[in-house]
Amino acid sequence: MSIAFYNTYSRKLEQFQPIDPPKVKLYTCGPTVYSFAHIGNFRTYIFEDLLQRHLETRGYEVERVLNLTDVDDKTIKGSHNAGMPLPEFTQQFKDAFFEDIKTLRIKPAQYFPAATDAENIAKMIEMIRILMEKDIAYLAEDQSIYFRINRFPNYGKLAHLDLDELRPSGRVRNDNYEKENIGDFALWKAWDEEDGSVGWDSPWGKGRPGWHIECSAMAARILGPQIDIHCGGVDNIFPHHEAEIAQSEGCTGHQFVRYWLHSEHLIVEGQKMSKSLGNFFTLRDLLNKGYTGREIRYALLRVNYRLPLNFTFDGLAEARQSLLRIDEWRQRLADLAHDATPDQEYAPAKSDAFFAALDDNLNISAALAELFDQIRATNKQMDQEALKPAQAAALLKWWDGLNNVLQLQKSEEPIPAKVQELLAKRAAARTNKLWSESDAIRAEIEQLGWTVKDTKEGQKAAPVKVH
Ligand code: AMP
Ligand code: ZN
Repeated sequence: MSIAFYNTYSRKLEQFQPIDPPKVKLYTCGPTVYSFAHIGNFRTYIFEDLLQRHLETRGYEVERVLNLTDVDDKTIKGSHNAGMPLPEFTQQFKDAFFEDIKTLRIKPAQYFPAATDAENIAKMIEMIRILMEKDIAYLAEDQSIYFRINRFPNYGKLAHLDLDELRPSGRVRNDNYEKENIGDFALWKAWDEEDGSVGWDSPWGKGRPGWHIECSAMAARILGPQIDIHCGGVDNIFPHHEAEIAQSEGCTGHQFVRYWLHSEHLIVEGQKMSKSLGNFFTLRDLLNKGYTGREIRYALLRVNYRLPLNFTFDGLAEARQSLLRIDEWRQRLADLAHDATPDQEYAPAKSDAFFAALDDNLNISAALAELFDQIRATNKQMDQEALKPAQAAALLKWWDGLNNVLQLQKSEEPIPAKVQELLAKRAAARTNKLWSESDAIRAEIEQLGWTVKDTKEGQKAAPVKVH
């Protein structure tokens, strides 16, 4: 078994070799908590979850950090508009994020550091001080500290950019004349009135960190000076990850990250799903439309991470049908297997093919094709009554291994709130013998892609299966 990943830095597929196996240090850029994360963001977190779970299946011990950006221009502006102190404002979105990753069955990271934690701010200040001492950073007229990109020869290597082409990024304070080079970015932003009560003391006066130094500092404090894998969406490559490399390597003089993995965007009609374009859905929007967490997980997981994924409701409906096919297959196997013990002799002929596909730069589409080939073949055998109970048991065991990575097994998932609300209304209508109202509510439930059956125990709701 050998795993290969496409490294954005080298633009090559490389054999994966961690620094200190079986340990793998993984840093993943987390949400900016100024509103609810959208499902584009979750595409990236689900890709990272697949990465972690596959590495664990292959025997690695993954130590993962997922940070929370809880101070930057957007969070400050948001708290100001809401008339709330920054910590209170961001807390509601942190809570929502933790709830959402649970719904999507994303394994929690060991560390969820927040930029404003005192020990992280201290680490940022320590790193900026080192960069100042080395003359890689400077104090500008506006009392902010900037990174001097001309002092870091490798600047631009990750994004494969020509230094002359650098344009200022959106997260840099706007007045360029204060900087030596238009591409220099802020490490520490001097306090101004718009910052209100937000600010920390530093050797350079009161201020707040730039976004990029937050991640460099949290990675170094928790994982140390060198990490194995760093992930994010492709929009993070420049300037954010380029800047992280410059800061971290500027401080230590050593390589910061061995493998850079970036997921392509979730797109809507050819454009990146984003808050600023207003073309986004939050997880909650989709739950309210009657989709479940596992359906949304599957819809976001099933396309290889280096390909753009087009978001459509047809895609979600397909995800639902694929899952129902898996459920039905598992149920048939379970009925057949009863108490039979799995016999290794009966394991699927290509039992490792699913994981071998994931070894190849997480080729999830090839891995899922293996699963559905297996489903097709064994369904046929069951139709012909040619599958033995011990074989069925072996296939269920094989599925358990796959599901450790996929996390798609049916469970008693909560029925979406909107469907529950309609079920309650329908139950009330039926108690009052308002049959036409009950039928109208049933139609509304069906519009959300759910069926309802009336049984002795009451109403039973399930997602609609299309044959
Ligand atoms: P942000 O909260 O904007 O800092 O983004 C959090 C994570 O989501 C980062 O890794 C981004 O690269 C990623 N991201 C943002 N928009 C999308 C999108 N449309 N598709 C996939 N990932 C995205
Ligand atoms: Zn980051």
